[in-house]
Amino acid sequence: MPKMRAVQVPRAGGPLEIVQRDIPEPGPGLVRIKVQTCGICHSDTVTKDGLFPGIQYPRVPGHEVIGVIDSVGPNVPRWKAGQRVGVGWNGGFCGYCDNCRRGDFFVCQTSTEVTGLSRDGGYAEYMLAPISALALVPDDLASVDAAPLMCAGVTTFNCLRNTGVRPGEVVAVVGIGGLGHLAVQYAAKMGCKTVAIARGRDEEHLARQLGAQYFIDNKSQDPAAELQKLGGAKVILATVTSADAMQSVLGGLGVSGKLMMIGAVPSLQVNPIAMLLQNQSVTGWYSGTSIDSEDTLNFSVLSGVRSMNEVFPLDRAAEAYDHMLSGKARFRVVLNIGA
Ligand SMILES: [Zn+2]
Ligand SMILES: [Zn+2]
Repeated sequence: MPKMRAVQVPRAGGPLEIVQRDIPEPGPGLVRIKVQTCGICHSDTVTKDGLFPGIQYPRVPGHEVIGVIDSVGPNVPRWKAGQRVGVGWNGGFCGYCDNCRRGDFFVCQTSTEVTGLSRDGGYAEYMLAPISALALVPDDLASVDAAPLMCAGVTTFNCLRNTGVRPGEVVAVVGIGGLGHLAVQYAAKMGCKTVAIARGRDEEHLARQLGAQYFIDNKSQDPAAELQKLGGAKVILATVTSADAMQSVLGGLGVSGKLMMIGAVPSLQVNPIAMLLQNQSVTGWYSGTSIDSEDTLNFSVLSGVRSMNEVFPLDRAAEAYDHMLSGKARFRVVLNIGA
């Protein structure tokens, strides 16, 4: 049996360990991917620390996967060996349940697969994926560049394009980190009046390089008041995990403004009167499914949006993961696994 290197979590809370495993064979509806790169996302803590019930260990994390199909199982239309593909958080959907029939594939009722969580992910030389989870990667995008777009990219791009925001309207991005540095670029490239909100003036230069026309320092300025000076935000993309930072921007929404929560905070207080009078909303956003990822990759090629990455080899996955957790990575961490 041919072997591969994989980095697995042996048990909830256990260390990331590099092991030899059998290379898996694709069953019906599955392809095998020779992994080239895999991003390390903060949501990998779900697998590492066992934050969802029912995760079976050992488990290989990783849901920002780019690689080449090298073997195709039975009953696989369209997809062929040699195609370069990406796999994100959504691990596939059935296409026939009621939610899928309504087009809400992300809440498929029969397939609840999550890459790197309910099935092995991309911290490995090979992995399996259902065809409904595959995004085709455009030729003009390097695999290191493409990996973070499979989660951080699709989350921000797909959220923004579904808000109904129009060119010229105000979009504020709270937090310039792994998600925020992409969100600023997408908003600017979509022609929005883009406002970056971050802690400290040190971030301003980078925010402007990424395309922000305005910068608000939420350490020394009141972000709600500053946004109102610009007419109020049509969309605020809140990428932060600090409830205070999210709370402090709410008053910056304009008429029919939407606060899109893509960072998870424990709780958030809203002012219903202000929201009713101004037709405002606070909304959660699920990142997207495979076609949304494919659109994200294509838009990124078209517009020049790129993730800023720090790259590590697979055998330094544990160190790379700790670097991601430290919050010091600028901005995404990517495992380079093989050509
Ligand atoms: Zn992720
Ligand atoms: Zn379904």
